[in-house]
Amino acid sequence: MNIGKLDAKPKCPQCGETLDGFACVTDPDFVPDVGCLTVCSYCFTPLEFVEGMKLRRLNIAELPEDAQHDIRSALRIARAVEHMKRSEN
Ligand SMILES: [Zn+2]
Repeated sequence: MNIGKLDAKPKCPQCGETLDGFACVTDPDFVPDVGCLTVCSYCFTPLEFVEGMKLRRLNIAELPEDAQHDIRSALRIARAVEHMKRSEN
């Protein structure tokens, strides 16, 4: 797993929170760049890095079907983990 901080401090276009960190479980050398997909860790909106490392809201229907399935699965897991964290507190 690769975890790091972004030099850019993009804001989520959905909730306005600053997203300055990243994590990748599949590539230890991964660093986000334009065209990479991510999910807001505050509101779970799917996002894409665009020019200037800004973020735009991603319409899942824009993606190939297998990627749509993967993103929806990742979102379900992220929301379930968040729900578990909140119920423990
Ligand atoms: Zn957000």
